[in-house]
Amino acid sequence: MKVISTNSELQEVLSQLRKDKNQLGFVPTMGALHEGHINLVKKSIDENDTTIVSVFVNPKQFNNAEDFEKYPSTIKSDIELLAKAGCDILFVPESKEIYTNSYAPVSINLGQINDVFEGPLRPGHFDGVVQVVNILFELVQPNHAYFGLKDYQQCMVIKALRDQRFPGIKITLCPTVRSASGLALSSRNKRLSAKGLETAAYIYKALKTVHELKKHIEPEDAIKYGIHILRTHQVEVEYFALANADTLQPSKKWLRSGKNVVLAAVWVEGVRLIDNLVF
Ligand code: AMP
Repeated sequence: MKVISTNSELQEVLSQLRKDKNQLGFVPTMGALHEGHINLVKKSIDENDTTIVSVFVNPKQFNNAEDFEKYPSTIKSDIELLAKAGCDILFVPESKEIYTNSYAPVSINLGQINDVFEGPLRPGHFDGVVQVVNILFELVQPNHAYFGLKDYQQCMVIKALRDQRFPGIKITLCPTVRSASGLALSSRNKRLSAKGLETAAYIYKALKTVHELKKHIEPEDAIKYGIHILRTHQVEVEYFALANADTLQPSKKWLRSGKNVVLAAVWVEGVRLIDNLVF
């Protein structure tokens, strides 16, 4: 695996690949990699000639300075995991390689997507995601890019960016990878104690319970019961709500199969975790 940290070297390598008509798969990440990331990488390896992964902790998408400072960094183990998975190129730029002097912010119409859930609670977050993914797409110019459904709302933001600026890039959204307890793998889990990991497993239990209750009770009561499960187990709830899986607009009634999404943002041991379930 080639490890590249500068833009100029990246362009040199990519120009040769483009000449050779390589189909390029791309997986942008913020590092502290786990099986959720590696699953995206393996899918890209299966479907493309060359796979490039980026590891860049994007300061612009953190609305909270402490969260940025505490974001885990495990680059040595990231390199090992990626090499073992068969990744071809790892791009690990410093901030100055991404936000160069010629960097001009882009503006994307996110419509209602930015008005709900993470949008108002993390002001500037999705704009930061748009800016960095826009730059990475410009630099890498992949044929195919891979994202995880664990960050459900982010997936919709990425699709809006693709539709408005990169119609030629195919986007594939991959299922959430979970630990045996059901907890969605996340780089932030590295900040939890063993007890915190047990507590955090109630997020998925609450999501699944809402799904199971769909046949029996109204959404409002199912959501209340999910929140009760979380609170009983010392999980602090920021939001836990049913929405339309296509529009992300909160819903007061059950929708037809595949259109319901329950979205959760909670705090465990001072760590903010998000998850969701589509059914
Ligand atoms: P991050 O490093 O957290 O920015 O994530 C990089 C990519 O990996 C994003 O597309 C995430 O949605 C995806 N991802 C993170 N955790 C998981 C998971 N548990 N399952 C599937 N995809 C994930």
